[in-house]
Amino acid sequence: MAVQETPVSRRLRSVKHIIIVCSGKGGVGKSSVSAQLALSLHASSPTARVGILDVDLTGPSIPRMLGLDGHGVHQSSDGWVPVYADARGAGEPRLSCMSVGFLLKKKGDSVVWRGPKKNAMIRQFLSDVRWGELDYLVIDTPPGTSDEHLSLLEHLAPVHSRLSAIIVTTPQAVALLDAMKCLSFTRAVTLPVLGLIENMSGYVCPCCGEISNVFSTGGGEEMARREGLRFLGSMPIDTELVTLLDAAESNEPDTASTAEVDRDESLKA
Ligand code: ADP
Repeated sequence: MAVQETPVSRRLRSVKHIIIVCSGKGGVGKSSVSAQLALSLHASSPTARVGILDVDLTGPSIPRMLGLDGHGVHQSSDGWVPVYADARGAGEPRLSCMSVGFLLKKKGDSVVWRGPKKNAMIRQFLSDVRWGELDYLVIDTPPGTSDEHLSLLEHLAPVHSRLSAIIVTTPQAVALLDAMKCLSFTRAVTLPVLGLIENMSGYVCPCCGEISNVFSTGGGEEMARREGLRFLGSMPIDTELVTLLDAAESNEPDTASTAEVDRDESLKA
């Protein structure tokens, strides 16, 4: 099928692979996995060109996880300039990041948008950000299957042939049930799934190294086997990860308010 020519296709034609990270439930570590995936791909070669787009519009956490809280987006004649993380040597590619978090006046602001407004924001992220040449664009999404997922698919599926998803779950039965709903969504929209990751799979005691299965373990692997998915691996609960993320969070205390970003428009939508 011929790929349609749209502002999104023109912008993303220089992006080789797009990986959408989803989960059935919130709090299972989807954003942590997205951030670590982007950082790992970035570290995989000195020439790797990687971007991360945070479309968790109501709960953006990628800026905090990458230590980029407080940064803003700049407009150039060729579109929005991403915020860059992990500067390498001169001339080497940096990790490009974009998130609604960079557009909020204060870190604690909330975004009160309905579907059409979210759709417009996502289209703008896909068509207006100056990503340049990328090997991978990792997209962090909200939990479940929401307006954001439908918007991504609406704009990307007709124009990008190397689009795929990763599903993140924890081992509990309730999380697995929701991961199944996520999988059934990808099947309904014929989005290829690269595989499944089980997060918080056991807790390794930092003192004695003994593994406790706080939430049971192996459910993700079992689901992958049953559903014919690739099991990409499991990650234990890592107390150091929490400490690092909490430290990043406490850097910039801020008061919460409601975002003024086109708030009236959002209420009309
Ligand atoms: P989601 O995006 O699914 O809502 P997050 O990635 O925001 O979840 O993670 C929720 C919380 O759990 C965060 O505070 C994060 O630091 C923590 N977390 C995620 N994965 C792990 C892990 N493997 N070990 C320890 N803490 C984790």
